[in-house]
Amino acid sequence: FFANVEQVPGDPILGLTEAYNADARPNKVNLGVGIYYDENGRIPLLRAVYQIEQQLALDAKPRGYLPIDGLAAYDQATQKLLFGEQSPLLEAGRVSTSQTIGGSGALRVGADLLIKLLDTRTVAISNPSWENHRAVFGAAGFDVVDYTYFDAARHGLDFEGMLADLRKLERGSVVLLHACCHNPTGADLTQEQWRVVAELLKERGLFPFVDIAYQGFDKGIEEDAYAIRLLAGMDMDFVVASSYSKSFSLYGERVGALSVVSADAKQAKAVQSQVKRIIRTIYSSPSTHGAALVAGVLNSPELRQTWEQELTEMRERIHALRAGLVGKLNALGAGDFSFIERQAGMFSYSGLSRAQVDRLRDEFAIYAVGTGRICVAALSQKNLDYVANAVATVARG
Ligand code: PMP
Repeated sequence: FFANVEQVPGDPILGLTEAYNADARPNKVNLGVGIYYDENGRIPLLRAVYQIEQQLALDAKPRGYLPIDGLAAYDQATQKLLFGEQSPLLEAGRVSTSQTIGGSGALRVGADLLIKLLDTRTVAISNPSWENHRAVFGAAGFDVVDYTYFDAARHGLDFEGMLADLRKLERGSVVLLHACCHNPTGADLTQEQWRVVAELLKERGLFPFVDIAYQGFDKGIEEDAYAIRLLAGMDMDFVVASSYSKSFSLYGERVGALSVVSADAKQAKAVQSQVKRIIRTIYSSPSTHGAALVAGVLNSPELRQTWEQELTEMRERIHALRAGLVGKLNALGAGDFSFIERQAGMFSYSGLSRAQVDRLRDEFAIYAVGTGRICVAALSQKNLDYVANAVATVARG
């Protein structure tokens, strides 16, 4: 049966980690990852998560199935985090939220939903975007086109190019937007730019699909949800795919959510029935543990405070690493890397060419993605000097 099966290429970023693991050089650094590492190069187990896990273990419960759309306490806490505690949309019952298998699951369930309910097959994603966006929407049956996003020469957003491309889209097309901490570039819209984009989407009848996988990693929980809050105030339908993988450091628990905003509570209920049918036919219902952890933390005033403190620590550590790297590169006369400090979130398009990335790997055992994307959170005060020196060497040519 499988005699003629074609081998498809593996994920390039996971392949990078395999090469890194096989590298015997002791000073090796993996900047290619998409994970937040702490100062010791480890994935943190947050104190709030540890504490709720202890509490839940003392009060261990049987593991029945969750409802198709997940743990109600989790879904409600998620809505509040995304739309705000006092959101009039939540009060009006206009948002239906379903726990999903990570942010990836939310993207796929959302894509399946929209291909079924909307009168379009087109989704526009930023160029570049997280690799899996194209694949997920393509697998759901969408034609994936891209819109201009990054200006490599200026190391930042090409806002005019973005607007021009969005204006060219056919009415009703879906537009995928990164709410904050754009992966892979680190280039985000300002609040003013968001307002222009939101107006354009509304005026042109485009359907926003917001992906928020790094809430709290740039400015804060509320600030990083600006795009969602803005769209929520504009009397539009849209969807949000969210993830706690990074903000709770719960990658393997696969905790995400799909939230759909409809015009009124009646529509929201009908849409939710469609979401549930989609989930039912893929994995039936989500898993219990990760959602119990997140809901337990968010619904306990004390643990929530601990979590917010830890999220702040992660955010501030990233900012400090950005500043540290730029300062050291400056001191080494490597050229102008100040843009790294202006970029947001875990990632930075460093501006390094493929050849420079190859040199970093071959000469210094420093691994980065071929596009020049580096994970700032994989730096530490311990490897910063080494990385800065290496980058300065290859940047000087
Ligand atoms: N969207 C973006 C922009 C991401 O970077 C990621 C994860 N790297 C995801 C979605 C998927 O999140 P999860 O790991 O929770 O599936």
